[in-house]
Amino acid sequence: MPRLANDCFAISENMISAQDALNRIGKAVDQSVGIEKCTLADSANRILAETIYAPRNVPPADNSAVDGYAFAYGDYEKNPQQFRMIVGRSAAGMPYQGQVSEVDAVKILTGAIMPKTLDSVAMIEDVQIEDDKVLLPLGLKPGANCRKAGEDITHGDLLLEKGTLLRPQEVGYLASIGLSDISVYRPVTVALFSTGDELLNPGSPEFEGSIFDSNRMILAAILQAFGCQVTDLGILKDQLEIVGPALLRASETHDLVITSGGVSMGDEDHVKNALVEIGRLNFWRIAIKPGRPLALGQIGDAAFVGLPGNPIAAMVCCLKFVRPLVAKLSGINRAPALSFQAHASFSLQKKPGRTEWLRGRYTPQSNRIGDIEKYHTDGSGVLSSMIWANGLIELGDNVTQINQGDLVTYLPFSELMK
Ligand code: AMP
Ligand code: MG
Repeated sequence: MPRLANDCFAISENMISAQDALNRIGKAVDQSVGIEKCTLADSANRILAETIYAPRNVPPADNSAVDGYAFAYGDYEKNPQQFRMIVGRSAAGMPYQGQVSEVDAVKILTGAIMPKTLDSVAMIEDVQIEDDKVLLPLGLKPGANCRKAGEDITHGDLLLEKGTLLRPQEVGYLASIGLSDISVYRPVTVALFSTGDELLNPGSPEFEGSIFDSNRMILAAILQAFGCQVTDLGILKDQLEIVGPALLRASETHDLVITSGGVSMGDEDHVKNALVEIGRLNFWRIAIKPGRPLALGQIGDAAFVGLPGNPIAAMVCCLKFVRPLVAKLSGINRAPALSFQAHASFSLQKKPGRTEWLRGRYTPQSNRIGDIEKYHTDGSGVLSSMIWANGLIELGDNVTQINQGDLVTYLPFSELMK
């Protein structure tokens, strides 16, 4: 089981910056989850837990890239206008077995092995056939239309490093060297709770003051997109005697325990107190909007994250802070989510000293950098803003003023949710 390093979540009474929080998360996890074997057929979207070197050449032998006629370039160069005897045929998986002289040709199909004495291929569309002879076109280059052994992968090459996410192309790459089983990290297991006396499962009868729990659905879907195995553990009532034991139990069988709500300073915010009793709480006040407060810590061998209750804040904090934490736990070795600059279609003033994420809608433009609008309000409870948006606008700590037309950083949801 992974453990978070002791000092990384050291209690900070002072507000820390978003970047500082990310740096601490980066250093926090000293170990990823364990390793398991899996068949290549089941390996898409898993994370490779071993470094792979090529055990062979790909392609294994020189072969033709087209349907045509194989010939020896040395003789063609001397006698380009000469009809050549077609002495045989080489098809993919059924190579020509006989001997060929330099002056002769062999009919060859795409992917078929080149006969030993021949090194170049003329395309079938370009030749002239008479009886059992072929006339090649002029101007062919040495090695034309021939793929060399080892051209894609050479025996001994470093192919994929430990920590690589296996996309379809990586799975095919490993298949091409003949691997059938590989070592992968097992998925990060996450126990997911909502907290709040007001919360209801969708489908349950309403009562005065109730609202439906939306966070759990959002967070479960995002965590699954991160590759986690999520256990939905439902809604916890706002009672210390309920919250503590539930989190403790979940920590025994999961790598990561996540709650939303109950981490503010209100009378019914029990997550913090529960953590102090059952584990180590490292409550962070992060200078961000939306999001503050965010609780991080450890319960036994499990990492813990207490997300804010407001759906937008919970979602943004999950995308910005839980994503790198899960990445660390999962063993993945990857660059930060892609972002790019776009022109603001709005003006605003902002307090310095905190990072803000606005809900943004990016529109590409032909022939110039695209535009980005911001949602008309910034309330952190309005999910409609996330429906409208296709990403987040990130305004760094030092930004105080944005004028229409300024370049701002845009983070597409498509990049943050994977
Ligand atoms: P809290 O941090 O528990 O005080 O919650 C802050 C706000 O978020 C309150 O208005 C809660 O009703 C709301 N909230 C908390 N959890 C959820 C949830 N799972 N789904 C929707 N809203 C929530
Ligand atoms: Mg609450």
